[in-house]
Amino acid sequence: MSDIVRIKSIEHLTHDVLKIVAEKPTTLSYHPGQAVDVSINKPGWENELRAFTFTSLPDDDHIEFNIKTYPSHNGVTNQLLSLQKGDELIIGGVFGDIEYKGEGIFIAGGAGITPFIAILSLLEKKNAVGGNKLIFANKTKGDIIQHERLQKLLGKNFISILSDEQVEGHEHGFVSAELIKKSMHEGLKFFYLCGPPPMMNAVEKHLAALGVPDTNIIKEGF
Ligand SMILES: Cc1cc2nc3c(=O)[nH]c(=O)nc-3n(C[C@H](O)[C@H](O)[C@H](O)COP(=O)(O)OP(=O)(O)OC[C@H]3O[C@@H](n4cnc5c(N)ncnc54)[C@H](O)[C@@H]3O)c2cc1C
Repeated sequence: MSDIVRIKSIEHLTHDVLKIVAEKPTTLSYHPGQAVDVSINKPGWENELRAFTFTSLPDDDHIEFNIKTYPSHNGVTNQLLSLQKGDELIIGGVFGDIEYKGEGIFIAGGAGITPFIAILSLLEKKNAVGGNKLIFANKTKGDIIQHERLQKLLGKNFISILSDEQVEGHEHGFVSAELIKKSMHEGLKFFYLCGPPPMMNAVEKHLAALGVPDTNIIKEGF
């Protein structure tokens, strides 16, 4: 089953990330962290399904996505760049393995932050952000999605790491076992991972080396 919804607003969050707010299908149900198959209701694009994660909350009266675009290539995300308020999306099946199970360390790469935006928004709403930490890996400071908001929400528990530039207040390089170890403590049982496959593989190896059991790892590759 799928629903056609109108775009209510579309704007740039960063140089290559769009925030799209659309009407909420009346029968839609999802939990924070889940994604949905989306296509564009334009001739030739209706069957080009791509997965995007809700950054809105289930109770909101709209749905929201934060979408990294690839303009170098004529795919769906490039096409999204030409859409305007009033254009339509087709919203299909909801799926996804990420779900909040308790306090832990969120480790995201690039657009892999999206399930954690939804989960952290729910925790914020419930006043339950607690000791959760976020290690957020990007190439440059300008690539950080919802930077100010995440920093404000998590304070010292927001750890940003940049691979392609050295900036004060940010770690430099790739997510290492040492960086994860520095953030670990007993109360933070769960590890939530989301990002591109090479980053996920590297982080999973670090977690295994640090003795984290698979049962405490909740993950989704983008
Ligand atoms: C469960 C899930 C949830 C997701 N949620 C989100 C989300 O909330 N936000 C988000 O931004 N992304 C999300 N993604 C990723 C998103 O689905 C892809 O980025 C999107 O499908 C790309 O669509 P496309 O048609 O533009 O590119 P495609 O044609 O599908 O290309 C796929 C990938 O190929 C690479 N690629 C594209 N063009 C080139 C090129 N010219 N040269 C080299 N490599 C290239 C890119 O890495 C791109 O991601 C999610 C993925 C999954 C599996």
